[in-house]
Amino acid sequence: MKQGNIGVTSENIFPVIKKFLYSDHEIFLRELVSNAVDACQKMKTLASVGEYKGETGDLKVNVAVDEKAGTLTVSDNGVGMTADEIDKYINQIAFSGAEEFLDKYKNDANAIIGHFGLGFYSAFMVSKEVEIFTKSYKDDAPAMHWSCKGDPNFEMEECDKAERGTSIVLHIDDDNKDFLKESKISELLNKYCKFLPVPVAFGKKKEWKDGKEVETSEDNIINDTNPAWTRKPSEMKDEDYDKFYRELFPYNEPPLFHIHLNVDYPFHLTGILYFPKVTNNIELQRNKIQLYCNQVFVTDSVEGIVPEFLTLLHGVIDSPDIPLNVSRSYLQSDANVKKISNHITKKVADSLSDIFKNNREEFEKKWDSLKIFISYGMLTDDKFYDKAKTFNLFKNTDGKYFTYDEYKTLVEPNQTDKDGNIIYLYTNDTEQQYSYIETAKNKGYDVLLFDGQLDMHLASRLEQKNEKTRYVRVDADTIDKLILKEQPEAVKLEENDRLNLTEVFASQCPKNDKMEFLVSMEALGENNLPVMITQNEFMRRMKEMSASQGGMMSFYGTLPDSYNLVVNTDHEIVKALLAKEKADCADKIAPVDAAIADLKKQIADLNEAHKDKKSEEIPEAEKEQLRNLNNDLAAKENEKKQVLADFAAGEDSVRQLIDLAMLANNMLKGEALGRFVRRSVEFIKK
Ligand code: ADP
Ligand code: MG
Repeated sequence: MKQGNIGVTSENIFPVIKKFLYSDHEIFLRELVSNAVDACQKMKTLASVGEYKGETGDLKVNVAVDEKAGTLTVSDNGVGMTADEIDKYINQIAFSGAEEFLDKYKNDANAIIGHFGLGFYSAFMVSKEVEIFTKSYKDDAPAMHWSCKGDPNFEMEECDKAERGTSIVLHIDDDNKDFLKESKISELLNKYCKFLPVPVAFGKKKEWKDGKEVETSEDNIINDTNPAWTRKPSEMKDEDYDKFYRELFPYNEPPLFHIHLNVDYPFHLTGILYFPKVTNNIELQRNKIQLYCNQVFVTDSVEGIVPEFLTLLHGVIDSPDIPLNVSRSYLQSDANVKKISNHITKKVADSLSDIFKNNREEFEKKWDSLKIFISYGMLTDDKFYDKAKTFNLFKNTDGKYFTYDEYKTLVEPNQTDKDGNIIYLYTNDTEQQYSYIETAKNKGYDVLLFDGQLDMHLASRLEQKNEKTRYVRVDADTIDKLILKEQPEAVKLEENDRLNLTEVFASQCPKNDKMEFLVSMEALGENNLPVMITQNEFMRRMKEMSASQGGMMSFYGTLPDSYNLVVNTDHEIVKALLAKEKADCADKIAPVDAAIADLKKQIADLNEAHKDKKSEEIPEAEKEQLRNLNNDLAAKENEKKQVLADFAAGEDSVRQLIDLAMLANNMLKGEALGRFVRRSVEFIKK
């Protein structure tokens, strides 16, 4: 019998394994099963190159739990190990610079195991003792038994073992009894070993007999050794891809498209990515890409390995070239990972482009479910943007789809303003903005439908990337100003009348801290509505962005929503209202106006006299006089406002017109709506 010390250069690794690797204990099973798979594959290789002349038999891995004995056994009929090989591969562990590294990665078992090649030793995370029974394929090598109780000492001796291969027996420690449960092991095998390339048996298949579940003699193979992504794309039909998707995500809706990745140079990468039907909640879509390394499951959180927007895709990536056993921060800076990530982005863009070119009808049909994914990509990845801009589609309110270029060609002739900007009109709500859409269409304009979560963000990006391009919501202004082609017709009102009428309407606008109204007069033609409400594009977007981003933008968030109340001076109701205002108020306003004019003149005269003087040269009495004059002026102006407000309050039509405009924008709610309805009934009675 041989006894010895495990060849760790600086320290006893066992406390380390137990103490530090508490987070991912379960991966020991992956490590042991993949070692067994490796041993089987080496056997196959040796046979195929003629180095081994005997029968390999059916190469297979067996996993068994014995809850009573407290053991978990992983066995294989692979190459096995000679005594020398055990010495070399198991007993000698290179283990330098350990402490520093361990401290850094103490929560990342993957990193530690990978760094030290501790795959086998991960068994000690869950075991109080580990035994190896192994017989090499080499004819003259005796079978060996190795055991170790989780301290630096091991024992090794010859033993009886007739068949070629290795059995690793774990004596599970008391803290990890979970791993003796069949259901637990079954779950872990399903998670980590589902697609390993060598059959893995876990017990026997069961069947129902006379109302009872009984074991059959057939092995219960838990894996698919030839998963879809390892096959040649040319051998795969659409059904095969769909079937594989169901295997991965049994509860998901069928995907829209798939991409089969198959790269040999400059790195190895295979995989299948599916475009899911994206639901409104994009967060639910994430973490559906599984990362494999030679068919061994590694992780299903691929952030840092693929660009963020691609994490919305579902499927499998398999690459031996992604350094899996390292920390995430290392991954993100790894050059290979960057290359792979760029490659995947390119492949995804190319295949979308192909589908678009070869089957546009299909592409359009799926567009609505695909859109958010593509927008997300264009917003977060410039390389993807450049490719996607050729197949990113616009949908208009008639349900027609256009590429950016197609749409530009369509609207350029009619929707270019006097400064050469192409104005893309959009709505985010066809019901709410119905009348504005109609008005725009009657003018020969086209209106886009931007009802997606990211549409506005993408519109801002398109404005940045394309010169002379503006996106304007249909209700951002009155129709002639929406796309300003020439100076709009001047309002044919005397200045005083314009100011008074403005005051009449301003006095009756809703007053609260959520909305703010700016009243203006425009000549919109006698057939247009008498009063309209618009919302400035810039201000609205700032508010929307502040709602979604906060931070710097939160200043805008504190402002009330600002609206324009546009009064159409061409409309007969407005004309009549102005006439009535003049008739009713002239007598009251005339003396106030005269007083105002007088005060203004006195103020102007005083200011003129003080023009060239320094403050200290002006007599205190004159300063006092100026202050009084200004106060008087403000009082008089208020008096005038009050006259106009009293007039407006007595004219139900003013409130009625404002309420109608609000109603058209779905802004009339609650008490205001109730008052409007009652007032309307009174109007009908008249
Ligand atoms: P790695 O798999 O990265 O080489 P491990 O610690 O998992 O590191 O295994 C160390 C070595 O032990 C393997 O390279 C292999 O030579 C040997 N070994 C482990 N398990 C088996 C097995 N089931 N059959 C044959 N050799 C094995
Ligand atoms: Mg290993």
